[in-house]
Amino acid sequence: MKTSRSGDGRVTGAPGSTSGSRKDGRPMVIVMAKSASPAEIQAVADRVHKAGGEAFVSRGINRVIIGLVGDIDQFATLNLAGMAGVAQLTRISAKYKLVSREQYPHRSIVEVCGVPIGPDTVTLIAGPCAVETPDQTLAAARMAQSAGATLLRGGAFKPRTSPYAFQGLGERGLRILSDVRAETGLPIVTEVVSTVDIDVVVEHADMLQIGTRNMHNFPLLQAVGSAGKPVMLKRGMNATIEEWLMAAEYIAQRGNLDIVLCERGIRTFETATRNTLDISAVPVVQALSHLPVIVDPSHSGGRRDLVLPLTRAAVVAGADGVIIDVHPEPDVALCDGPQALVAGDMAELGRTIENLTAFMGRKPPSWRETAA
Ligand code: PEP
Ligand code: MN
Repeated sequence: MKTSRSGDGRVTGAPGSTSGSRKDGRPMVIVMAKSASPAEIQAVADRVHKAGGEAFVSRGINRVIIGLVGDIDQFATLNLAGMAGVAQLTRISAKYKLVSREQYPHRSIVEVCGVPIGPDTVTLIAGPCAVETPDQTLAAARMAQSAGATLLRGGAFKPRTSPYAFQGLGERGLRILSDVRAETGLPIVTEVVSTVDIDVVVEHADMLQIGTRNMHNFPLLQAVGSAGKPVMLKRGMNATIEEWLMAAEYIAQRGNLDIVLCERGIRTFETATRNTLDISAVPVVQALSHLPVIVDPSHSGGRRDLVLPLTRAAVVAGADGVIIDVHPEPDVALCDGPQALVAGDMAELGRTIENLTAFMGRKPPSWRETAA
């Protein structure tokens, strides 16, 4: 028979930590109320000792914290939260240690060829969903650049739901991206869909994109962790925030902390939009992790008319950037035409971002952390 976890309702920490009797495994800390008496503190320590654990009492100026060591999941059955003088039970050391803000309280800046993505700027990444031809890619890149984009997105390897849909130009697409980078100076963000392609993608890309369908592809996450390039990790369309951060941890664990998280909408019961943009993920993740968080309004809404309002929402919610689909001729696009912006829309989006960047007290994209 499973024991109930009566204290769980008051356990705080990373989302998902309170569900059922699933083993948690993170250390537990008890914060005592300011008014807690020495006897109450002792009673808590005694109960933990009786259960075979250890209780380390740390006294601060205003409060007493008791760190518990031992079978933490068993401690959750002791109703410690209900004891006199206990203010809060907290689980610390999130499972995602390296990407956790507990470990690095300051928010990180990731640089892609000198372009910062982080708390001081709002970085605009834009380009075609898929690289189709040299002319189409260059035209999209020019539209992006004149609207203020400082990074070019473009898919050469496309993860498509249908095996009959355009799968991308592969290596030929990467070469087109490299040519367009030479022409425009825009560093390239492009997706890698398989460990098999990683070397060729790394040869051309400045930032590796892991798409929503691959967020749980652990060998791929590990491979990009060792690839020596910054990574943009999209949230799995069915992934919780904790799962997303655990996926980032896979990359970080291989020594790569240059990770930018991208909220791109999740699957819900709603069918009016392609996905449901989880705008709350922006502040939630920024509180849990030091990594930058950007938003993909194009894949979230899946509709051109939603891109501008969702971009506004993202920037004002505190996103560190947005990634936008743009196409010179969306009507004949081979991938995701209905959500691609055209020149006029793109220019308006650029102006909006510029205004909201100032409104949010952030710096223009030309700003460089390293220059400071
Ligand atoms: C993309 O950015 O082109 C893409 C395929 O996005 P997602 O993985 O979010 O669907
Ligand atoms: Mn797309």
